[in-house]
Amino acid sequence: MMTIAKGKKMLLGGKWMEKEETISVYDPQDNSIITTVPKASKEDMLKAITAAEEGAKIAENMPAHERIAIINKAADYVDEKRNLFAETIASEGSKTIAEAKNEVFRCIHTLRVSAEEARRINGETIAFDQMPGHENRAGYYYRFPIGIIAAITPFNDPLNLVAHKVGPAIASGNAIIVKPATLTPLSALLLAEAFDAAGLPRKILSVVTGSGSEIGDVLITHPSIRMVSFTGGLETGENIARKAGLKKLSMELGSNSPAIVLKDADIDAAVSSCVAGAFGAVGQNCLGVQRVFIEKENFDKFVRKFVLMTSQYKIGDKKDLVTDMGPLITEKEAIRVEQWVNEAIEEGASLLVGGKRDGAFYSPTVLTNVPADAKIAKEEIFGPVVILFQVNDLNEAIEKANNVNYGLQAGIFTKDINLAFTAIKKLEVGGIMINDSSDYRIDAMPFGGVKGSGLGREGVKYTIQEMTEPKIVNFKLG
Ligand code: NAP
Repeated sequence: MMTIAKGKKMLLGGKWMEKEETISVYDPQDNSIITTVPKASKEDMLKAITAAEEGAKIAENMPAHERIAIINKAADYVDEKRNLFAETIASEGSKTIAEAKNEVFRCIHTLRVSAEEARRINGETIAFDQMPGHENRAGYYYRFPIGIIAAITPFNDPLNLVAHKVGPAIASGNAIIVKPATLTPLSALLLAEAFDAAGLPRKILSVVTGSGSEIGDVLITHPSIRMVSFTGGLETGENIARKAGLKKLSMELGSNSPAIVLKDADIDAAVSSCVAGAFGAVGQNCLGVQRVFIEKENFDKFVRKFVLMTSQYKIGDKKDLVTDMGPLITEKEAIRVEQWVNEAIEEGASLLVGGKRDGAFYSPTVLTNVPADAKIAKEEIFGPVVILFQVNDLNEAIEKANNVNYGLQAGIFTKDINLAFTAIKKLEVGGIMINDSSDYRIDAMPFGGVKGSGLGREGVKYTIQEMTEPKIVNFKLG
């Protein structure tokens, strides 16, 4: 059994702090209260920023070997307490315990890679003599930390997406203030405990719990914040980008990812990969498969197998190892998903399986005959719903896949290398998986989207690029 202390503290400006006003954290499975966290005010956020100004000076002067040692110790801490971390993720969020264990494994990896990359923050020499008249010049650039980073994170990967900002920020000598999702703040606080136990000077990292709409503006508009690293929904991201002003922005936003299944594909492999990609984490996954375009020759067979596999999904207790799918993050979200599906059915869509709600639980749902302009075909559902479309050929699939305002990742199933390369060239996305669904990521690859799916790339090394700035050095020789 997990033992989370009643009333967690937040790490703010070097101190573990309580507040009289608190926010309850619920387990969405039964709406029981797990614990409370402090509800930070705007003044609290200002205190965190003032402390981070000191923290940034400490961080920029820490040698790489110290940063490496601290990050590795934090990774050791997570590893030693991996069960507590997994239970926390599976309690405050939607994930099953198996999915939560995998997230903890990924978080440890993200931290280890961050420690590794701290040794490789390099510049390069520049050939100044390429320009006539500059023959007596020599120089290079270093990469320097940007200063203070504001990290705003979503509910769906409450640990590893925080690690994806904290690990690289500390690796590159920055201070960082994390504002975790209000629904799932406990994993981020545990990660702060890991860095505290590892000996990170306290003013370098704050984890401030509170409502984004109340305290977010103070953080993102403050002139001392040099970068806003946001992961979350498109609407929130656009709102933050408009307000942030002259700061670096990293925006990891949503999607409604496509998969394309061509007539030469291995159908069984495509079905199992797309089913897992659609319903993992209850479909609350930025990489989740939402739209599958199947060449007409395979459509009926694919649909039959897809529906059969979906109907075998086990929905139930998140903590049970045999459960495939738990509840959505809130009942409100489950009602929204139900409404979007019902709206599509009213507009002519056919429900092949699923479509049933019980509180926050919503059964894995497969639709076909969805009109191209239905909301569910255009926007991000962020729930366990997938749409199957029949297409005549690859060109039609690509055109339809691109006809949305998102472009995070895509998958294509084919044995034909030329067709795969056509998709690689033409699909408007940040990543393409050949013979796998969009739902593939390792933590050390460049990850991010185009169009409404975001700006910039994460993936430790790439995050470090975003979190540092080149400073050019030029010698005028005699
Ligand atoms: P969200 O509603 O956009 O919230 C994300 C974060 O923004 C939360 O911490 C939230 O705080 C905060 N926030 C809300 N309003 C704010 C404001 N005015 N100023 C500053 N911060 C504010 O997203 P979500 O529902 O948690 O997460 C789901 C979305 O994240 C989906 O669209 C998903 O695709 C996307 N996502 C993208 C990636 C990626 O890497 N591309 C990964 C995972 C998820 P409160 O919780 O206090 O409201």
